Amino acid sequence: MEKKSLDWANIGFHYIPTEWRYVANYKDGAWDEGGLSPDPTVAISECAGVLQYAQTCFEGLKAYTTEDGRIVTFRPDLNAERMTDTCRRLEMPVFPAERFLNALDRVVRANAAFVPPYGSGATLYVRPYMFGSDAVIGVAPSKEYQFRLFCTPVGPYFRGGVRPLTIRVSDFDRAAPNGTGHIKAGLNYAMSLHAIVNAHEEGFDENMYLDPKTRTKVEETGGANFLFVTKDGRVVTPKSSSILPSITRRSLIHVAKEYLGLTVEEREVLVTELEDMAECGLCGTAAVICPVGKIVDHGREICLPSGMSEMGPVTKKLYETLTGIQMGRLEAPEGWIRVIE
Ligand SMILES: *Cc1c(COP(=O)(O)O)cnc(C)c1O
Repeated sequence: MEKKSLDWANIGFHYIPTEWRYVANYKDGAWDEGGLSPDPTVAISECAGVLQYAQTCFEGLKAYTTEDGRIVTFRPDLNAERMTDTCRRLEMPVFPAERFLNALDRVVRANAAFVPPYGSGATLYVRPYMFGSDAVIGVAPSKEYQFRLFCTPVGPYFRGGVRPLTIRVSDFDRAAPNGTGHIKAGLNYAMSLHAIVNAHEEGFDENMYLDPKTRTKVEETGGANFLFVTKDGRVVTPKSSSILPSITRRSLIHVAKEYLGLTVEEREVLVTELEDMAECGLCGTAAVICPVGKIVDHGREICLPSGMSEMGPVTKKLYETLTGIQMGRLEAPEGWIRVIE
């Protein structure tokens, strides 16, 4: 198989259509057979549920080439499981996990020429999603849905080296208590766009959202979970029912405990504790872990001792261990790597 001649190091994070995507339709209470399609466009009613009432959800994961040349994905069973939870909360039909995994395998295999080579730092980003496709004018769940899964090559996240972020404590809220913060719904992103544009205008890379009820506890950013390292070397990650359960964060916690022998605490984290932290990172599929150098809370500047020029030592170890597992340089826990034959 001949790889596409793309400049892997410089493709950035933009949509580049690939040759094949998977499409399945839900109608009269059942999913059709589904299959691969060369068509990158979607035609739906002008009154579709997704267009009127935002009934849509998504997932995100990566396919990449390991050191020994295999094409693999990382824990996609957890993406299927999370999409199931999301669909239930949004009154959408569940696309069965085994079909989700099969669609993933087929799309990645069909687009193997777009899977970046080992060592390029680039990956193939995979986007499964679902939306209400039939006309809905009275507020109610759609009756028909489309599940799609496409992929697009993306460049290395830390191109030009690691640059720790400066973030602010946001006055906007991301997720209401008992709301939809714990599911991967498009609506959580629509309402975060104003907050992120405003953060950028004010010179910050990201928003640190607090719990809306008391505004004393750290939740997450718009698209990544927090992981802290205390000055005495414990790994701490916020616990809340309105945080999106990041697969990367859950994997890093396992790595911290089982590979690095660190103490891990999953608990409420108060804003007043931020001064006690030595390192802070943002966890998600895109970067794995991106260091934070400074947190600004309404003029109060918290500078992480790990600094503004590189990852702190524990963050770096976590990053290297998890990416080592993903790339096949370190032995993976059972079931973490799905090889695309
Ligand atoms: C997707 C997402 C994450 C990261 O989850 P991963 O499974 O690690 O990619 C974190 N927070 C939010 C709000 C998200 O939507």
